[in-house]
Amino acid sequence: MDKKMFRELLLSLAEKNDCMAYFEGEKADIFCRLTEHMLTVNQSFNLTAIKEPSRIALLHYIDSLKGADVFPEGVRIIDIGAGAGFPSLPLAISRPDLEIIAVDSTEKRMRYVEETAKMLGLPNVKAVTARAEELGKNRDFREKFDFATARAVASLPILCELCLPLVKVGGCFVAMKGRGACDEIEMAKNAINVLGGNLTAAHETPLYDLEGEKYEHTSLLISKERQTPTVYPRLYTKIAKSPL
Ligand code: SAM
Repeated sequence: MDKKMFRELLLSLAEKNDCMAYFEGEKADIFCRLTEHMLTVNQSFNLTAIKEPSRIALLHYIDSLKGADVFPEGVRIIDIGAGAGFPSLPLAISRPDLEIIAVDSTEKRMRYVEETAKMLGLPNVKAVTARAEELGKNRDFREKFDFATARAVASLPILCELCLPLVKVGGCFVAMKGRGACDEIEMAKNAINVLGGNLTAAHETPLYDLEGEKYEHTSLLISKERQTPTVYPRLYTKIAKSPL
């Protein structure tokens, strides 16, 4: 990968998508190092199906950061199903004020995220190998976070049961969705209510590539208004078989 070309492409895409602030100064260089590292590791371990640098810039980095202005200064975020570190790593690079815990059930991916964060000098992101529904029963994690995030993990009713138990009352779950987000809201109404949430906003912030092609992105903001009843989250087999 040509780092200089990638940097220019990243900045052009950021300008096109009104998010230059996230790539200021040395941040763009850190994104270049992340891309190079991820593509190298991806040759031996499947981290991402998106391999073309311009698509990584748009569909992983800018997509992870769209809507990142909803996080107030210094909040604590748990990112469920972080996989190869999305949105955790872009958030940690662009918003050094945030404290982020990346969670995934796959140990190899979390080892990669932990090592990558160290290599890039990002002290504000830690990786935890665990299942979200188990953390939701763990007193060190349950209702301990200002925000939960999840991108491309599961349908909204399932995600709500994985994420809302981890959010403090007064906090918020941000579900990052692509196409069809509005249909999912309808399906998740009962889950949101039962788990103590309330859908407060649906921010539609589409992405554009340099040719002007549009990619849907919607951030669903579900605020935590009441404690989650202790019976939730259930075992994953139950969550998946009969979503709330
Ligand atoms: N969020 C990343 C992204 O946007 O690229 C990864 C998305 S990947 C399609 C979904 C990830 O969610 C997988 O790495 C999977 O292991 C993880 N996952 C699914 N269910 C989970 C659960 N109950 N607890 C923890 N991780 C889970």
